[in-house]
Amino acid sequence: MKLSEIYRKEQNLSSKKPVISIEIFPPKSEDAKDFDNKKEKLFNELCILNECYKPSLVSITYGAGGSSRERSNIIVKEIKENFDFNIVMPHFTCVCSDKKFIENYLDEIKTYGIKNILALKGDEPDNIEVCHRDFRFAYELVEFIKTKTELEIAVAGYPEGHISAKSLDEDIKHLKTKVNKGASVVFTQFFFENEKFYSYLEKLEKNKICLPVAAGLLPVISFEGLTRMVKLSGIKLSSKALNHFEKYKDSKEDTIKAGIEWTSIQADDLICNGIDGIHFYALNKARSTAEILKNIGLC
Ligand code: FAD
Repeated sequence: MKLSEIYRKEQNLSSKKPVISIEIFPPKSEDAKDFDNKKEKLFNELCILNECYKPSLVSITYGAGGSSRERSNIIVKEIKENFDFNIVMPHFTCVCSDKKFIENYLDEIKTYGIKNILALKGDEPDNIEVCHRDFRFAYELVEFIKTKTELEIAVAGYPEGHISAKSLDEDIKHLKTKVNKGASVVFTQFFFENEKFYSYLEKLEKNKICLPVAAGLLPVISFEGLTRMVKLSGIKLSSKALNHFEKYKDSKEDTIKAGIEWTSIQADDLICNGIDGIHFYALNKARSTAEILKNIGLC
């Protein structure tokens, strides 16, 4: 299925439901056997999630946080072969890649039967010997994919503005370029206060960016992980959110429960407000996302 079909289908239902998508990352490991073990664990988590509620879409990160790019392809291919999600969507980054490399990648995923892609700039990998500058920004990748393939293209959006953007308005201007070049859905960075997302949607509307926007939600499972991700993404955590998680920072179990509670309230409110989709940053674990889906009555 294609991205626009799935969003159109859910929206046309009499009781509008958001499209539920899950983001996972390829297990980090340089050792083939260890990678296989971790891959089996990841697939097991997807099976657990499927028992509760089958997401419409699973997306797989590419080279994020130092994970191997080759292993991303293995995960994409095997999920496509072994699961029946409506959409398996690889993320793909263009930073430091040349046109030939990107063409080869696009040919490769075509052989897996992939129909949709999340086109990103990406962050410059560490220890890279040669960094090609064929692509500077994601909009150039969107344009390239559009001219070379029939893939449907999603792009990233940042309700608080991208960390390197001069301002949120400037960032939205650049999002519009990605849309004009052919993107059809926006998946957002995670946020912890829904007001920021609603205000972002208003700004998109004012800028005539009229396409489905999936709200990124991160069910927190560790305080250390939360502070690291907040720092990397440049989002601002409200004191309410910080206090909610900080008080449980010494207990993994209590932090997971606090994450489920916070994200369930966010998801419930987003659904009441008729949003198009929720994109869970599931961190390769089924438990929190499954419990949140249960709390909001989806399983
Ligand atoms: P762009 O849209 O190119 O924007 C990057 C910056 O440049 C922004 O500040 C933007 O405002 C600015 N900009 C854009 N166009 C112009 C222009 N013409 N002139 C001047 N400035 C401009 N990273 C990974 O490595 N792998 C992943 O799998 C991955 N998955 C992600 C999934 C989601 C849903 C999100 C939200 C992010 C993900 N990222 C991933 C992180 C992303 O790659 C980084 O945030 C990256 O720095 C920006 O990527 P982009 O596609 O948003 O870039």
